[in-house]
Amino acid sequence: MSIKETKTDVILIGAGIMSATLGTLLKELVPEWEITVFEKLANAGEESSNEWNNAGTGHAALCELNYTVEKPDGSVDISKATTINEQFQVSMQFWSYLVKRKLIHNPQDFIMPLPHMSIVQGDENVEFLKKRFKALSENPLFQGMEFSDDSEKLMEWIPLMMQDRTSNESIAATKIDSGTDVNFGSLTRMLFDHLESKDINMKYKHSVIGINRTNEGLWELKVRNLESGTVERHTAKFVFVGGGGGSIHLLQKSGIPEGKHIGGFPVSGLFMVCNNPEIVEQHHAKVYGKAKVGAPPMSVPHLDTRFIDNKKSLLFGPFAGFTPKFLKYGSVFDLLTSVKPDNLVTMLAAGAKNMSLTKYLIQQVMLSKEKRMDELREFIPNAKSEDWDLVVAGQRVQVIKDTEAGGKGTLQFGTEVITASDGSIAALLGASPGASTAVHVMLEVIAKCFPEHIEEWEPKIKEMIPSYGVSLMENPELLHQIHTSTADTLGLNEEDPLLLNSMV
Ligand SMILES: Cc1cc2nc3c(=O)[nH]c(=O)nc-3n(C[C@H](O)[C@H](O)[C@H](O)COP(=O)(O)OP(=O)(O)OC[C@H]3O[C@@H](n4cnc5c(N)ncnc54)[C@H](O)[C@@H]3O)c2cc1C
Repeated sequence: MSIKETKTDVILIGAGIMSATLGTLLKELVPEWEITVFEKLANAGEESSNEWNNAGTGHAALCELNYTVEKPDGSVDISKATTINEQFQVSMQFWSYLVKRKLIHNPQDFIMPLPHMSIVQGDENVEFLKKRFKALSENPLFQGMEFSDDSEKLMEWIPLMMQDRTSNESIAATKIDSGTDVNFGSLTRMLFDHLESKDINMKYKHSVIGINRTNEGLWELKVRNLESGTVERHTAKFVFVGGGGGSIHLLQKSGIPEGKHIGGFPVSGLFMVCNNPEIVEQHHAKVYGKAKVGAPPMSVPHLDTRFIDNKKSLLFGPFAGFTPKFLKYGSVFDLLTSVKPDNLVTMLAAGAKNMSLTKYLIQQVMLSKEKRMDELREFIPNAKSEDWDLVVAGQRVQVIKDTEAGGKGTLQFGTEVITASDGSIAALLGASPGASTAVHVMLEVIAKCFPEHIEEWEPKIKEMIPSYGVSLMENPELLHQIHTSTADTLGLNEEDPLLLNSMV
């Protein structure tokens, strides 16, 4: 039974980092617009944005080897790395603006300074890392990066990983101190607390089950109140589908032509976590290695210091896996019900093309704890099983679509914003580089959906993000200014080891 009807300017579906960011941006740009948020769970940031469901890397391409590729002529292409770094600078500026304006508080509760490192073994990989280091360190965005293949230096940087290492293989690493660990769960909750203080309408335990266009050109959502079981109808001029893995189903319900011929392939993640203070204290970095042959890019192994709930721990992973769910708290029928007549061929083509990936993921699911420990021992040679526990992380739904380059059913590893031609609805699909670039991606949504307002809003956007529309790598002076001021505001300069010790 339908019992309630409301009208609002903006509806955000899902209370993850993406809706939180878009809502906060819009509240700054047009405070008078009414915003309603529907979230099917009881709290904000419980799916992929939760601190235990992602790795918390502030992705700025300071350590992720998959963002730089070796070209056939042997040179290293850093264009993807510079793009991601610039996008992360946008997030940092926005967060810094919010802290300065006291719209959110205690930045140390969501962002901590942490060296980012890449590590490789074997002569060929060491050679690649050297070339990569040279290419990056010549760029202003990566200033301060160091390279070493000296085991004494590496022992100083990563003692836990170098102790008891018996392999004779050559080994090298790069290190840059301007990296971060970001608690996206905490940030999401802070942003929604702020939004609630600005009178947005937060509706937890409300699941969106239908999206239709009305005769007046508005969007009408059918929403199930999960507590009362009743179905409500809510209309809005603009809808953002920020349902994470749930976005594909929601996009399909909207019926917009831009959402056709698109499918999703879920990849789950598992981490190993260590809370033993004696071990945790011996490591202070995010150290990214190289993905194994056949592994998807999001399963690059890394050993990270994490700061969660004022406590330091170590996280290793992710181990990829397969379940047909599109959300951690989703349904085993998600994959099946996402197959529709318009994307059937695309999905079948993807299935045929990605047999080896599916096999890899199933093998990963079957790994015993000891087998996972063996992978960890490639990072920490003397790691002991009793110090490490498994935690189930979030689901990433990779976009499948037909592309010119890849043909029918090509698996995409990036993020896609799908908008209706009139800009009245937008959906975010995909999960990489993810939360770190939320501000850039949500500005893209704003530019696509509100082109008529952009000129009027630009001064405010520039106040929030001084580098808006400007390439920082081509403006080293502005980069320096922004770096200094964001680091200052977000407390990324003072790394007090005593404070860190007392947190363990
Ligand atoms: C294993 C793993 C590691 C990762 N590591 C990193 C990292 O190191 N750095 C990084 O930047 N990013 C990382 N990411 C990606 C990042 O977590 C995501 O990009 C980001 O959290 C997505 O945010 P979101 O708001 O789109 O989705 P989510 O946080 O998943 O939120 C979506 C919300 O929508 C709700 N919802 C869904 N359907 C409905 C519906 N029908 N009605 C109402 N509500 C609905 C869900 O309950 C959920 O709360 C990682 C992801 C995973 C899975």
